[in-house]
Amino acid sequence: MSVDTDRLMIRIQSMRDELIQLTQDLIRIPTLNPPGDCYRDICDYLDTRLTRHGFDTQLIRAHGAPGDSDKFPRWNIVAHKSGHHPGDCVHFNSHTDVVEVGHGWTFDPFGGEVHDGKIYGRGACDMKGGLAASIIAAEAFIAEFPDFHGAIEISGTADEESGGYGGVAHLAEQGFFAPERVQHVIIPEPLNKDRICLGHRGGWWAEIETFGEIAHGSMPFLGDCAVRHMGAVLDKFESDLFPAMAARHTDMPVVPEGARSSTMNINSIHGGQPEQPEDYTGLPAHCVPDSCRIVIDRRYLAEENHAQVSGEVKQLLQDLAQNRENFRFEMRELNHVAPSMTDRAAPVVSTVDRAIHDVLGKAPDYVASPGTYDQKHIDRIGKLKNCIAYGPGILELAHKPDEYIGIDDMIDSAKVMAHSLTQLLLPQE
Ligand SMILES: [Zn+2]
Repeated sequence: MSVDTDRLMIRIQSMRDELIQLTQDLIRIPTLNPPGDCYRDICDYLDTRLTRHGFDTQLIRAHGAPGDSDKFPRWNIVAHKSGHHPGDCVHFNSHTDVVEVGHGWTFDPFGGEVHDGKIYGRGACDMKGGLAASIIAAEAFIAEFPDFHGAIEISGTADEESGGYGGVAHLAEQGFFAPERVQHVIIPEPLNKDRICLGHRGGWWAEIETFGEIAHGSMPFLGDCAVRHMGAVLDKFESDLFPAMAARHTDMPVVPEGARSSTMNINSIHGGQPEQPEDYTGLPAHCVPDSCRIVIDRRYLAEENHAQVSGEVKQLLQDLAQNRENFRFEMRELNHVAPSMTDRAAPVVSTVDRAIHDVLGKAPDYVASPGTYDQKHIDRIGKLKNCIAYGPGILELAHKPDEYIGIDDMIDSAKVMAHSLTQLLLPQE
């Protein structure tokens, strides 16, 4: 590293207390999603902080996005700081929302307590720690190299945990991620400080309904049981679809290993009478169910495509309709997300690769995510391919009780991010 870069690393080290305070402040704003609480509060907090550090900010509400209402408005912030010379724009995007708390906590989920070098709280790891690290990285870089080229942006966006339509998707539609505006995007999701995440698998969600005919439960032969028809569907999944999916492998470096094949979860099943409230003490009525529904969550590989994935399920259902008496079905697509994979030769990849080498003294691991994250919108809507996820935190802690972020990990990844800025925004000899 050069003398200048060494100074930058020392500056970040000296900002440790500030980084802790910032992370605690962010955790203490309970941005639960659903329903989408406190988005405006966290945007106002970031607005105050980043304005103080010379950023120009815009607060953008995703009017009309799923979940947006006057009670739960979907607020986002984009902060922009231009350098003194033309050059590329590097954008750090973090989602501000966190998932429900759940049970089993021994720390206050919104307390931001520090214990043993870790900060605890819902969202500490996913991903307020990453947001805080990127802010410290940018502020340290600007303080050390005020004469930099190009621009730095930091965004805090809503709703990643529920699809990102009120967050990054909305900003991408407004042109915030147009390649002529932004050239490099780093999403500080918790992938560990020495790993570069190139993208994610695709997802396809659908509801399948089988139909029957209602009759008295004592004379099922007078009706037609929709649940038995669904049983035949599940049977086909077991005998044909699951083995076929398990045999498909991807070249994507997906972690954990099990996600390098195609997978499908059956999220829910429901047939017959609706469940009664818990305080209902009566017995169920005797009826043959005339409808049964399942929701499936199919995750697919870069080597597969949408038409193939939905087509094989449809084919299986059509085969049943041919071969099974009275089998009738409907299949409704609920959502679809294409896989996203950034090229390993992309500039943001080689930049962060080198920064990990220089800062951590090791080669990075390359990974892809089993589930999707906001890269999908930057890729598909924004048409920006030069995007990775890189940030501190242990992925397996996300959404768990006693979620935490390691303070040293945040410092290290802030150094990697700041080092990346020196490569992208300072003239290189
Ligand atoms: Zn996340």
